Amino acid sequence: MHIKVIATIGPSSSSKEILKEMVLRGVSIFRLNFSHNTPKGFIPIIETLREIELELGLPITIMGDLSGPKIRIGEVKNSPLYLGKGYKAILGLESFRERYEDREVPFLGVKIKEAIQGLKVGMKAILSDGIPIFRVEEVLVPDKVYLLEVESGGNVSSNKGINFPGKHISLPALTDTDKKNLHEAMEIGIDAFALSFVQNKKDIIDIKNEIQKHNKFVPVIAKLERANGVENLDEILEVADGIMVARGDLGLECPLPSLPIIQKRIINACNRQHKPAIVATQMLLSMVHNPLPTRAETTDVANAIMDGADCLMLSDETAVGNFPIEVINIIKEIAQNTENYIFEQQKEPLKPTHEIDPGSYLAYSACLLANYANAKGIACHSTSGKTARLISSCRPKQKIYGLTPHMEVIKYLNFMKGVVPILSDAKIPNHLDRVENFVQHSDLFKPGDKIIITSGQPTPGQLEKHTNQIKIYFK
Ligand code: PGA
Ligand code: MN
Repeated sequence: MHIKVIATIGPSSSSKEILKEMVLRGVSIFRLNFSHNTPKGFIPIIETLREIELELGLPITIMGDLSGPKIRIGEVKNSPLYLGKGYKAILGLESFRERYEDREVPFLGVKIKEAIQGLKVGMKAILSDGIPIFRVEEVLVPDKVYLLEVESGGNVSSNKGINFPGKHISLPALTDTDKKNLHEAMEIGIDAFALSFVQNKKDIIDIKNEIQKHNKFVPVIAKLERANGVENLDEILEVADGIMVARGDLGLECPLPSLPIIQKRIINACNRQHKPAIVATQMLLSMVHNPLPTRAETTDVANAIMDGADCLMLSDETAVGNFPIEVINIIKEIAQNTENYIFEQQKEPLKPTHEIDPGSYLAYSACLLANYANAKGIACHSTSGKTARLISSCRPKQKIYGLTPHMEVIKYLNFMKGVVPILSDAKIPNHLDRVENFVQHSDLFKPGDKIIITSGQPTPGQLEKHTNQIKIYFK
């Protein structure tokens, strides 16, 4: 399986047995959702994952998901309350609750003023699960209180998320709570962050500045879940280390019928920039309750792989579902079928497009050589992870063994399709020797196998160690 699987941890997947089984079946990244617990609250899980990592000798990436400025409604009287089509509700800042609470219609309070500032008659408001849908009927107090009418009925319950499709919300992605969680998470050794509701490049620069204070590289995945985040994708990609197509909120913020194509555009842009793309939410949702997925879900997973995603993320399926192991088995089987098909169709690795960086062509050459030499694998020394990313984005048939001496880069390589992260022996000064040493001693390769190696040797007198050579290694 070349695709990477991210599993969200929750009550269904907190035991060591389940977690270990998931890793053995191919999960390399676990998501801790800081909307549900603080980083410190996750310490027992983190310790368990570190034990599993040692026992299995497989690197596990722990990704902390920072919730960003998610907008929620407060307490709803008589929650859950069914509101049918044509019913009214009042949406307002919490400070107006007393003034409006006693009326006949329920009061939906929000704390963040920017969230509802500037709402106009005709705009929509949708609760987190997509129902009910409201329309703004009247502005009662400009920027602060509105009368809503139900367009499509459903249950309203306390503390639900609320989305205002297409509305620009001028709030930075990194909230004060996120900042606190970030520093706490850094102290306890989180390997990656996902930041929710990213809208522009500055959101990523902000979080990178905070991480920088710890003098450590920790990759940042930008969760695209608002229309303007998608619009600003190119500038976000310049600074983010990966992108998540966060289809849950994105499917509320953008018209649902546009979602499949938004997914394809985001993945294409990531592939062009050699940054990992994650497809998330409702991948196999029915498996929360059933041991088998629906036809549509099976097809959705296969199509996300065909679209060129690096990772697929499971949310409720592994966090609260009844079949956390079965869901991984299903993903694996779909992936094997789909990847076989892809390589049946695609006779050669993908050629870089619009590239000026010679490193991309070196990576492409290594993949071509692997293809025609019928190599067993591609082993690259990639101190920063860049060469591994470039090779991965050519989508070769072979697995890519990415060697780096840095543990934080190992954890980043877990996000890249087809890349197997390997800790290189920093005691060996020469990078080519490091890779040859690995290939020679690894059980993954047998005598007679051909392995394509890439590495960087500086020209005498120069310090630069960019990848500059390709070799066929005959074991
Ligand atoms: P969430 O993000 O699960 O944190 O909401 C993913 C999504 O919105 O799809
Ligand atoms: Mn979300």
